[in-house]
Order: sequence, then C-alpha cells, then structure tokens
Amino acid sequence: TACQQNNGPIDQDSFSNKETSESYKETDDKIIIGFSMDTLAEERWLRDRELFKEAVEALGAEVEILASKGDDALQIIQAENLINKGIDILVIVPHNAESTAMIVKKSHAAGIKVLSYDRLVRNSEIDLYVSYDNEMVGELQAKAITKLVPKGKYVYIGGPETDYNAHLLKKGVFNILQPLIDKGDITIVYDQWTKDWYPEYAFANMQEALRANNNEVDAVISANDATAGKVIQALDERGLAGKIPVAGQDADLAAAQRIVEDTQTMTVYKPLKELADQAAELAVKLAKGEEVKVERMINNGKSEVPSILLSPIAVDQKNIDETIIADGFHTWDEVYRRK
Ligand code: BGC
Repeated sequence: TACQQNNGPIDQDSFSNKETSESYKETDDKIIIGFSMDTLAEERWLRDRELFKEAVEALGAEVEILASKGDDALQIIQAENLINKGIDILVIVPHNAESTAMIVKKSHAAGIKVLSYDRLVRNSEIDLYVSYDNEMVGELQAKAITKLVPKGKYVYIGGPETDYNAHLLKKGVFNILQPLIDKGDITIVYDQWTKDWYPEYAFANMQEALRANNNEVDAVISANDATAGKVIQALDERGLAGKIPVAGQDADLAAAQRIVEDTQTMTVYKPLKELADQAAELAVKLAKGEEVKVERMINNGKSEVPSILLSPIAVDQKNIDETIIADGFHTWDEVYRRK
C-alpha cells in the first residue's frame, strides 16, 4: 500500500519522527503536519527542515517530512501518502508551481488545508502562503549591483521557469534595471533561466554568456548563491573572478566566504528561522481551524491567497558581521575560514 513506502530504512532525504505509525487517524489529538519538500540540494533547505521540525515540536505538534528531489511525480505521490495517513495539515514547498495544484485539490477533497512554504503553488485554492518578499530579493540584488555598475553590460542568470519565485526574482531585478535600460545606460547581453536550479546549467550558461560577448561583461545577477558560485567559477576560468560584480541570494556559507574573499559582491540573507517559526505557528492554527489574520492577498492565477511576506536583507562585506554572523547563521570562524 501507499503507506509501506515509509516503513523502510530512513532515506537520507526524508525523515519523520513518527516512522512506525501506518495512519495518524484516531491515534491522539496531537496535530500532525505533513511537510512535502522539493529538494535538499541547496544548503538552506536542510536548515528549513531542522528549523521547521523544531518549531512544530515546540508547539506540541508533530511533523512528517518528505523530500522529492526535484521529481514532480514523486512529490505528488509523497503528498498523497501524507494525505492518506491522515495528517491535519499539509505544508508544501512545490518543485513545480503548476503541477502541485493537483496536490492542493486532493488535500482539500480530504478536508486538509494547505500552506505554501517559501514557493507559491499556482492556480490552486491554496489556504496560506508564507515566504520572503521575492520581488524585493531581486530589487535588493539589482540595487546593490547598479550602485557599483551604473552603466554597462549585464548578465542575468535566473532560476527555473517552474519555480514561481524565479519569476518574482526576475521581476524585482528588472524593476530596477528597466529604467536604466530605457535610458541606454545598461544593456542586457545575456538572460537565461536555469532549469531546476542546477548549478551546472548556470555554469554552462555563464560560459556561453562570456563566449558570446568576448568576455565583455560588466556585472552579473544570479538568482541564488548556488548558481552564483558557478558563475564565479566560469569567471575564474577566464581570470575575471573578483573583477566583475556578482550578486546571489541565500547567504550560503560558500557565498559568505566568497563575499569576504572578494569574488562575490553580495547575497540576500533570509533569516530562515522567522519563516519556519511563522509557518509552523500558522500551520498549527489552520489545522485547529483557528482564524489566521493576514494583511496581504496575492493572486496565484486562480485565487486570492492570504500571504505573509517577510523582509529579506542585503548583505555585503560591510554588514556581514552584523547580519549573518551576529545572527549565528554562520560563525565568524566559518566565514573567515579561521578553523
Ligand atoms: C528559494 C531559494 C533557493 C531556490 C533553490 C527558491 O525557490 O527561494 O532560496 O535557493 O529555490 O532551491
């Protein structure tokens, strides 16, 4: 049966603190949250997983977590398993913003509400969306880079079209760049999506961008730090690392190190504990049928989704100590490699 999948050895990409139970129905009145994650490839998602679990348990609830490694069909199967086991609420990080609408439908048919975590499920009647303001992430990147390079040739390395965040990030970047493009100060010499956020595709795309422009590139905005790392590797191959400003996002450790070492200009820091805590608290409220008050509604193509958007923080060499390090997101020793 569908449930058997969870009874085998614990997969390193999925774990649960309730491994043995076949079904949650009628066990006790503890709230059980199903957390359907996409990937654990980027460093941040491991942190989200830990922080979310901690927050849920601190609220006296439990969570079963599954990750689908970027496989759309697997994410649907895993979510169905959670629904069939009788979770009280489903929290989802969709790999594919569109195809996961099917999960929302199935969950609702079983009377289970759905909270979109970090990434929006499109074209569905999702109950709540909790994320960072992704458009603002793009704006922060472009503001930082245009300050250094007010005129010149820009490369944009985006996220995948299948992740709605990638669209929001790009919108934010172009909110800032477009007036400068219209003035003729900035030219976009290369602009490409990165399928599935695979850093290797970003690497190939950056190589292509440099080749096509005879290395005449003045600035690069990359949708996250994992792709920015590969952009910098491509620049390094041509002796350009540290000479061309590069923006990323996530405050990955490697990115923080590159910032202090001068090969990456900035990152956008999203203090993930805020996100995990809010999502856990609201998920428990929704599960209990309590009212959740939000100020913002976001249209996802089908419905107006009650949304909470937290504020991202721009980080460069100047404020890295008082942000990422002061928060304990990474230690000073780790960032400055003093170990
Ligand atoms: C997240 C980023 C992350 C990326 C790749 C996006 O939806 O907002 O923080 O780097 O997915 O997993």
